[in-house]
Amino acid sequence: MATPTPGPVTSPVAVKIYADPLHAVEDPFYVHVSKNEEVVWECMQSHQHGHGKCFTIEFPGESPFADKVFQDHGAKTGVAVVPPNDVKLYKYTIKIPGGGTLDPQGGVKG
Ligand SMILES: [Zn+2]
Repeated sequence: MATPTPGPVTSPVAVKIYADPLHAVEDPFYVHVSKNEEVVWECMQSHQHGHGKCFTIEFPGESPFADKVFQDHGAKTGVAVVPPNDVKLYKYTIKIPGGGTLDPQGGVKG
C-alpha cells in the first residue's frame, strides 16, 4: 500500500490588497525560500469575496511562481520556483474590476 506523500509545509506571507485607493501591503513583498514561504493574496474590500470580483493578479513577464495569474481573495502562489536573489524584484499587476490597475513588486530571498 502506497503511503501518501505529504506536500511541502508552506508558510503564508499575506499581501493585503486595498481598493480605495488601490495599494498593496507589503510592497514589495518578499518570500523566503528557506522558510517555504508562499504569498496569500488577501482582499481588503468589504464585499462578498470571489467570482472575479476581488482582483486579478498577473506577472506579465517572469513570474517567481509556477503560475503567472492569480484571482480573488485567498489565492495562493505556491512556493517560489526561481533561485533566491536579494536584489531582484518581479513586477506584477493588480487589476480590480472597475477600480484601476497597480504595478507593485515582489522578491525572492534565501
Ligand atoms: Zn474581495
